[in-house]
Amino acid sequence: MVFDRVAAGLDHPFDYWVPPSLAHVGPGWRVRVPLGASTATGVIVGWRAADEEDTRDRPVQLKSILAPIGEEPLLLPDLVRLVAYLREQWCCWWGQALRTAVPAPVRQLPPPPRAHLYAAADSPRGPVRQRLWEYVRDRPGVAEAEARAATGASAAVLSALLSAGTLRRGPAPRLAPVPTRHHLTAAQEQAVAALAGCLGAGAAQTVLLEGVTGSGKTEVYLAAAAAVLERGRQAIVLVPEIALTPQMGARFRSRFPGRLAVFHSAMADGERLREWHRVRRGEADVVLGPRSAIFAPCERLGLVVIDEEHESTYKQDEHPRYHARDVAEERLRSTGGLLVLGSATPSLETAHQARQGRIGWLRLPERVAGRPLACVSVVDLRAELERGNREMFSKQLAAAVDDTLAEGQQVLLLLNRRGYAKSVVCRTCGYTARCAECSVSLTWHREDDRLVCHYCDFRMAVPDSCPACGSARLRSFGVGTEQVLEAARIRWPAARIARADRDSLRRRGSHERLFQAFSARQYDMLVGTQLLAKGMDWPHVTLVGVIAADLALSLPDFRAAERTYDLLTQAAGRAGRGEHPGRVVVQTYNPEHYSVAAAAAQAFQPFYDEEVGYREELGYPPFGHLLLVESSGASGEAARAPLEQAASELRQDPALTVRGPSPAPVEKVRAHHRCHLLVRAADRPRIVAAAHRLAASQPHLSLTIDPYNFL
Ligand code: ADP
Ligand code: ZN
Ligand code: ZN
Repeated sequence: MVFDRVAAGLDHPFDYWVPPSLAHVGPGWRVRVPLGASTATGVIVGWRAADEEDTRDRPVQLKSILAPIGEEPLLLPDLVRLVAYLREQWCCWWGQALRTAVPAPVRQLPPPPRAHLYAAADSPRGPVRQRLWEYVRDRPGVAEAEARAATGASAAVLSALLSAGTLRRGPAPRLAPVPTRHHLTAAQEQAVAALAGCLGAGAAQTVLLEGVTGSGKTEVYLAAAAAVLERGRQAIVLVPEIALTPQMGARFRSRFPGRLAVFHSAMADGERLREWHRVRRGEADVVLGPRSAIFAPCERLGLVVIDEEHESTYKQDEHPRYHARDVAEERLRSTGGLLVLGSATPSLETAHQARQGRIGWLRLPERVAGRPLACVSVVDLRAELERGNREMFSKQLAAAVDDTLAEGQQVLLLLNRRGYAKSVVCRTCGYTARCAECSVSLTWHREDDRLVCHYCDFRMAVPDSCPACGSARLRSFGVGTEQVLEAARIRWPAARIARADRDSLRRRGSHERLFQAFSARQYDMLVGTQLLAKGMDWPHVTLVGVIAADLALSLPDFRAAERTYDLLTQAAGRAGRGEHPGRVVVQTYNPEHYSVAAAAAQAFQPFYDEEVGYREELGYPPFGHLLLVESSGASGEAARAPLEQAASELRQDPALTVRGPSPAPVEKVRAHHRCHLLVRAADRPRIVAAAHRLAASQPHLSLTIDPYNFL
């Protein structure tokens, strides 16, 4: 049994005796057990017969389970297995694995009643009635008390709707999916047929759906979900951001009325509890949500779709530091289902697997309805500077904004800026200092005014002039969204401009409100981070401006080129989704860089061909696995010392390549100094074993298997 607690002393399964009176209680059940002088709850993850060798004479010493909680197992066998998988493959504590697989309200609150409301027939008249009806329609399975409290409807209003039949008491009947209103394109038809074929085969399979932005991938997901429902099985659809769930939710809800459950951590506890149990009871068959929705308790899971599979948000930052793609594959291995990875810009890992023939590969090469891809132009900021323009907006971008606003269309201005790592860029020739060994940008460390490779700790003084062209215009480089917003407001005083980044969207629901206001054209322009480039469908956006592609390119991360390519392509994907063709203006000091050039041509293959060569040469994923070991301390030395020891331990295994320790690119967070160590191996089991060895010998170090964030 595993405790529902995160504590070092409790980080292993405990043995308890299951008395004959509780013989029906087994794996997956929540139970209350004695612990020390008190009691605690946990979940049974396995059992063994008392007459097995190592427990032959122990049963008398074992304490007995006190009582089960609930009337049936909380976790289905495949989720029990998944808890053990998280703990083993991502090297976390048992309690963390359990808490990840089962959301807090489900662990803490009793299941909701089975008698609940759902909406039927057409909307009733009258504002209160309509409000109540809509509330229930969007939350099938809601309790009567909650629906009334949330909408201010009286008991009389509720009973009127019940007797009129516009509301009914559940469980809801299974409604058939509503057929699509689109006539699928030939490419969509082919993809749908291929996926249906995979579903028919019944074995676990993974397929990459590589489709340019606006090629109708979502329509293919909907068809695949309909096909899996027809076979009596369930589907999980993952989106990279909570912000994208409302838009995707609306499309799935209208296709699968009453059968969709939405999972995400920003929902209120009661709602999360209800949605979880609707799935657990088999009332909902399609689950939609960000990363954590992969743990939805589907008993008949047959399909997982990961939309925009290249997004790094599928990697969890906290323990267990899993990647949703790996968890999905693990889950489907045991249930024999289909994993669909959709993207216009697949991750190198997935693209490589598809090109090697290890997973399926379907393509949607064109936008639907003959809409052209946006036209991308690249502005060389070096030339702009030469001509004496020191403003944030090049002549070309400014003119394009003028035109777009004059036509009454909308503009997105994007700035990729994650963390605060700064590099040095030559404003004359575009040179950025890189580490020759690791092929990542060097990061400028203010404190000692040096350039540092944060993979191997190579250091150099900041040169006075550019090593490539001799220019003295070598500068550290950084602008923020606020500065762009300010400059845009000065340049276009009549335009209605809003800002969207993590800081401005901290409050619950602020995302949805801003994005809706923008959809309703209450703003002319939105200034923000890459958040804006993700998946939104705004038909009136005809211009996207990227303020500085170099910010993405100069991140000290071996995926910097991939991120840049993604950002630019996704940005182009936001432009011209409606009737009017779109255009994109990319400003950069590095117009020749292959990621910029390939994105401008909107061609993934040339980018892939070049990038995969670098990855192979240096053993980075997909040609190897990494372990990031991080440490922090009151001084640089205190942070570094345990890593020196870890490095010497790790170096005893000749299959591991150990780089560092080096300071983290974001060297100080509050008063803490941060250092890290990067470990590489050709195969994953080596990396996992190394992580477990380190976790045992130096438990205070932070370990990330297959890291995505090096800041
Ligand atoms: P993607 O997910 O590849 O970016 P979407 O599935 O969002 O693309 O489709 C883009 C737009 O095209 C959406 O507005 C969608 O409703 C529409 N669409 C999709 N398939 C078709 C089709 N076969 N015929 C007409 N419109 C379509
Ligand atoms: Zn230069
Ligand atoms: Zn290096």
